[in-house]
Amino acid sequence: MKRRETKQVQIGTLVMGSDHPVRVQSMLNTDTMNTEACVEQAIRIIEAGGELVRITAPGVKEAENLKNIHAELRRRGYTVPLSADIHFNPEAAITAARYVEKVRINPGNFVDKRATFKTLTYTDEEYAEELQRLREKFTAFLDVCREHGTAVRIGTNHGSLSDRTMSRYGNTPAGMVEATMEYLRVCRDEAFDNVVISLKSSDCRVMVEAVRLLVRQMEKEGMHYPLHLGVTEAGEGEDGRIRSAVGIGTLLNEGLGDTIRVSLTEEPEREIPVARELVACCKPCYREDVPRLEGRFSRPLIVADIAGVECVDEQVTAALDFHVAAVNDPVYGDLLKGGHLAPEMIYTEALGPEWTKLPDTVKVIVPHESIDVAHVYNRNAVALVPAGEYPRVGAQLEGSEILVEWREERDWTPELVECLRRDERVVLVLNPSRPEYMVYRRMLETVAAAGLPTRVILRAELPSGNREQVSLYLASQLGGLFLDRLGYGIWLSVKGEKDFSFGLQLSRDILQSAGVRRYKTEFISCPGCGRTLYNLQESVARVKKAFAHLNKLKIAVMGCVVNGPGEMGDADYGYVGAGNGKVNLFKGKQLVRVGIPEGEAIEALKQLIAENGDWVDA
Ligand code: SF4
Repeated sequence: MKRRETKQVQIGTLVMGSDHPVRVQSMLNTDTMNTEACVEQAIRIIEAGGELVRITAPGVKEAENLKNIHAELRRRGYTVPLSADIHFNPEAAITAARYVEKVRINPGNFVDKRATFKTLTYTDEEYAEELQRLREKFTAFLDVCREHGTAVRIGTNHGSLSDRTMSRYGNTPAGMVEATMEYLRVCRDEAFDNVVISLKSSDCRVMVEAVRLLVRQMEKEGMHYPLHLGVTEAGEGEDGRIRSAVGIGTLLNEGLGDTIRVSLTEEPEREIPVARELVACCKPCYREDVPRLEGRFSRPLIVADIAGVECVDEQVTAALDFHVAAVNDPVYGDLLKGGHLAPEMIYTEALGPEWTKLPDTVKVIVPHESIDVAHVYNRNAVALVPAGEYPRVGAQLEGSEILVEWREERDWTPELVECLRRDERVVLVLNPSRPEYMVYRRMLETVAAAGLPTRVILRAELPSGNREQVSLYLASQLGGLFLDRLGYGIWLSVKGEKDFSFGLQLSRDILQSAGVRRYKTEFISCPGCGRTLYNLQESVARVKKAFAHLNKLKIAVMGCVVNGPGEMGDADYGYVGAGNGKVNLFKGKQLVRVGIPEGEAIEALKQLIAENGDWVDA
């Protein structure tokens, strides 16, 4: 177990960095001017195990009130450090730096104005002038931090890069890295080391790519600042947890990350147990020499594991999303057709006439000993062979595909490699006894080193247990491999789980979070903070209910008009709190309806979606 070595950053009584455990934190969603509410919520976070509490300070007035919140927490005996969250307001940052232990600034808006997302051109001189302005303002802020022993987080978000940065680097991971490095270079020149960095996005792939790129750039420039990890606008419930596990878990497994926040649109204290669980299930392994595996599987398939099902009947096929397509077979009757949730492969040990009704596109996998019987029921049945037996029995097995399952290192022999090279029918199944991210990566590297162009299904077998823990574990171990397009398919076998749909649904959620399949409407929502202008959790529930069937769309529900529009990323539609019971609606990044009363906003969004040709009836 090894994390990337970093500097140790002092944040009040807390030290953050690679010599210390990964710290977990959360953020208040109460009004910063309401001292009592902030203190109460901070205490709930602390008692849940939060080690750092962040509070938004939209202006100088709120930054001033951090003093009261801080004092009241200390008076009640809580020493956990506080962090101020600042956007668009260097004065508020300077004020907050006097009262709290850490201040987060956003390079996209610390000195730069709100992005217009228009294509602007900057001459070298104009660009250099803006950098100079940034240096002056930021140095003044660092001076106050130094004086008060305040740490700084340089927190870059994908959705809020400045026009200046986007003019040269686009709204890309490279842009996020450059925006951050501009500030880090000032820190280095000013010998200010009490710095933590974050690069976040609601898109796990962008977030992971940006952090990896940043680490490479920092190493090149001799910088070793600790990292804060998070997926922004992850949402709530199962979706928010899995999305966070895919993004944060991948990087933790790569040995990156010294503090994390799981942003959920729920009560902030509920983020802490999820964050702790995520830290506990990841196995950091930092490798500077990680070979860059080039993935090519942009639409992986799903294997539904129904090995525990003894009798395959209509109920089972319906749960797999196969439904009657036509009554045209004189012997077997109704033939089946798969819905958009149907898996492409099904692993079963129970054979029977139901399999005859499946469409040709679906493959039934059986242990190789049963393949002859299976072919009676389904001519597309595919044999599953352990790698250790494949050289002996492979040539005798019939079928257009064969699944060869590799579990143990000792089975990877020159004879196996030779047989795999000769047999184009083979799809490899990696099923390590320890289903861990780095174990899969090493196996994939072995396959790549052998020069095999083989398709690889990633299988994980583990005992059932607490469903949330199982989900977080599997999403954190497998999600990153799909982010990198390395998996031809996913196969989850949760042993002892009574309902096979659990593994199937989890497979879909992991692939959707990795951005390689879309099974349901993608809802993203910010966690809310002191800027939130309506009841965010209720709004998310209403939007989800009304638009859950539009599975081709990405819809964002955001708490405020200040940061919400920028942070919506590439959402197709945005539903943004505008204050005084009003909502603004966006089509992409464009504001198209302003100040709609909340009670009418769902209907207005329906209309907007319909006007743009994206509506379908449920
Ligand atoms: S988008 Fe949400 S979390 Fe971000 S500042 Fe606005 S209300 Fe707060």
